[in-house]
Amino acid sequence: MYLKELELKGFKSFPEKTDIVFKNGITAIVGPNGSGKSNISDAVRWVLGEQSIKSLRGDKLEDVIFAGSDKKKPMNYCEVSLTIDNSDGEIDIEFTELTIKRRAYRNGESQFFLNGKPCRLKDIKELFLDTGIGKDSYSIIEQGKVDEILSNNPGVRRKVFDEACGIAKYRYKKQEAERN
Ligand code: ATP
Ligand code: MG
Repeated sequence: MYLKELELKGFKSFPEKTDIVFKNGITAIVGPNGSGKSNISDAVRWVLGEQSIKSLRGDKLEDVIFAGSDKKKPMNYCEVSLTIDNSDGEIDIEFTELTIKRRAYRNGESQFFLNGKPCRLKDIKELFLDTGIGKDSYSIIEQGKVDEILSNNPGVRRKVFDEACGIAKYRYKKQEAERN
């Protein structure tokens, strides 16, 4: 399982449709200050369901939508699609390729799609449980994350290990069952 493709349209500093294809291996994104490197990692977290605008380095919901420039008008919506190669079947779904799409409008409305079909944020969260993928999961190590893991109390730190060894799903299902 690996990140295969990321497509941005109207997201932050990417008004034009921008397609980034990743090979199975290491990819480094380089560029001058302010060229949009961090916006790309913000897009990955956003499409995986990030709801906290602060952690996407914005103040309000619409800050993820292209705000316009000297030459270009602001956009009314933005869209990010993330494709995962699942030919090893690591994610428990019948597809060998998985595309998650999120679209958001200036009025705050946000839609999620899984392989083209509308879905809920909850469906995406449940699909990735125990895979290490997810907005808060260890597949995304942002600045300060390692320090945070090391200095957290043991209960919080344990969540990382629960996810790695596949217990998080059962813990989640138990909580859901108790709630209903
Ligand atoms: P550094 O090397 O300094 O970390 P970076 O390559 O990570 O830079 P980013 O933080 O990804 O750069 O991009 C910052 C740029 O994105 C700024 O120029 C900012 O104006 C632009 N930007 C952010 N949000 C929007 C938006 N909604 N509309 C248009 N441009 C935006
Ligand atoms: Mg940056």
